Amino acid sequence: MLNEIEHVKCLIIGSGPAGYTAAIYAARADMKPVLYQGLQPGGQLTITTEVENYPGYPKGTQGPEMMEDFKAQAERFGTDVRYGYATSVDFSSLPHKVVVDENKTLTADTVIIATGASAKWLGLESEQKLNGYGVSACAVCDGFFFKGQDVAIVGAGDTAAEEATYLAKLCKKVYMIVRRDEMRASKAMQHRVENTANIEILWSHETKEILGTKTVEGVQVVNVKTGEERTLKVTGFFVAIGHKPNSDIFKGWLDMDETGYIKTIPGTSKTNVEGVFASGDVADKIYRQAVTAAGTGCMAALDAERYLSAKGIH
Ligand code: NDP
Repeated sequence: MLNEIEHVKCLIIGSGPAGYTAAIYAARADMKPVLYQGLQPGGQLTITTEVENYPGYPKGTQGPEMMEDFKAQAERFGTDVRYGYATSVDFSSLPHKVVVDENKTLTADTVIIATGASAKWLGLESEQKLNGYGVSACAVCDGFFFKGQDVAIVGAGDTAAEEATYLAKLCKKVYMIVRRDEMRASKAMQHRVENTANIEILWSHETKEILGTKTVEGVQVVNVKTGEERTLKVTGFFVAIGHKPNSDIFKGWLDMDETGYIKTIPGTSKTNVEGVFASGDVADKIYRQAVTAAGTGCMAALDAERYLSAKGIH
């Protein structure tokens, strides 16, 4: 069906903690939200296993289950949750236009962007196979499961440095795999890494393979200068080579930083375009937690509700 146009008061793009929390608040405020789930319904949490740091779950929960709970709660109040992927937008005039799956155009009084970010991966088959079974892109989320064990982390930016020191507090030994002979991380963070006794930096090393059938049992690395290979006996492998915010379709419409994170007016979820709000990881390169994403999703719904009231749209 080409060019079918539907008007909604509140369109939410994305189905992670930010999107569903925005939906819960928007639905309860009678904004009749329509939420498009995107390519990965449930977002990044669906590729983790245990979640132990989300308040309200004293015994922990599974990431995919938690996102089913978020969805059920959003639907309970009437959110129209749909499969579909926003493929382009036009924010040049009101109401805003969003095209889904390249063939359905919606107009919306308010748009809440909660498209998240995606961790960058090395691209190894073994990394994909063991993702969630010892391979993780979030030390703060999963480090605890490797308490007292030996782990490895790849990357040399501020995130990798910060996560290596975080892991060093929990784990017996942390190998930090750095592909060049220098780090990109700030000097202060590098010093912290270098002064942590149980972190061993492997300069000029690349990861060849992650070993293990069901869970991580080791990592094979190679010294790119000498060609010498080595197997690290580790049970956890953390990838910290950067994230990419899922903001490509908003380029040219919204203010972003140089890496594509959407800029919001500090202390709000407002973007530079009226009626367009951003929440969760697509606008946050620092915290990146489910609970902070949920918090900003709530902010976006409240900001959208106030915007609609001020505009006299009921
Ligand atoms: P960055 O892009 O800054 O760093 C990515 C790192 O991963 C680089 O060291 C890069 O190596 C390495 N890398 C990339 N691809 C590969 C690969 N295929 N194999 C091995 N290594 C690879 O990402 P970060 O997430 O660290 O930081 C993102 C932004 O957030 C930065 O601006 C950072 O300063 C900021 N930040 C700030 C914090 C703070 O202030 N507390 C905390 C965390 C992040 P190479 O250097 O060789 O390119």
